[in-house]
Amino acid sequence: MRISLPLLSTAVGLGLTAAALGAGPAASAAAPQEPVRAAQLGYEPSAGSGEDAAANRAFFEAVIKSVAEKRAANPSAAAAVTVYYSATNAPSFRSQISRSAQIWNSSVSNVRLAESSSGADFAYYEGNDSRGSYASTDGHGSGYIFLDYRQNQQYDSTRVTAHETGHVLGLPDHYSGPCSELMSGGGPGTSCTNAYPNSTERSRVNQLWANGFKAALDKALEKTSRR
Ligand SMILES: [Zn+2]
Repeated sequence: MRISLPLLSTAVGLGLTAAALGAGPAASAAAPQEPVRAAQLGYEPSAGSGEDAAANRAFFEAVIKSVAEKRAANPSAAAAVTVYYSATNAPSFRSQISRSAQIWNSSVSNVRLAESSSGADFAYYEGNDSRGSYASTDGHGSGYIFLDYRQNQQYDSTRVTAHETGHVLGLPDHYSGPCSELMSGGGPGTSCTNAYPNSTERSRVNQLWANGFKAALDKALEKTSRR
């Protein structure tokens, strides 16, 4: 029960958010509908599973797989990799999500973020969760970001959103880093308001999307040809 209870409460919380809006999330960006044992990447060291390399890899793979499958289905698409997000289920954080996308789009060149009303690669959700904000997969290959109300009042909300979005682009947590580092998250404390990745983080994301994307695309093509 110790493991399934918080996961169940998240599923219920997300379900209520979706129900209140009168529309469910897109299939490719669905929130967990059942308790699953999914690793999470929290904003604070105490909130999630810590500096979990496996969780980060699983989350990044879910996002990149979604992008690769769409591109395999439409090979004539533009060369630049675009990752589409849905902000429909996080209406309170529209400006922070938009700002976060702007920050990342002005910081890196090999991948860009854009909002889409349907078929998003990942989705933002909002609500109350004692674990705070986190990035996770639903255990079925879809990535999502949960933004916790209380934590976004304690910490700079744009930094929280940009940090969680950094996981989408493949960066792991590094809580021991300084405020100038985006992926140090809640490590430097509530006074830290920097919402920009530093030069190392920018380089890492460019590197991941330059080399990682081809491998993901190959995998998706292989899957298609086997059918
Ligand atoms: Zn994190």
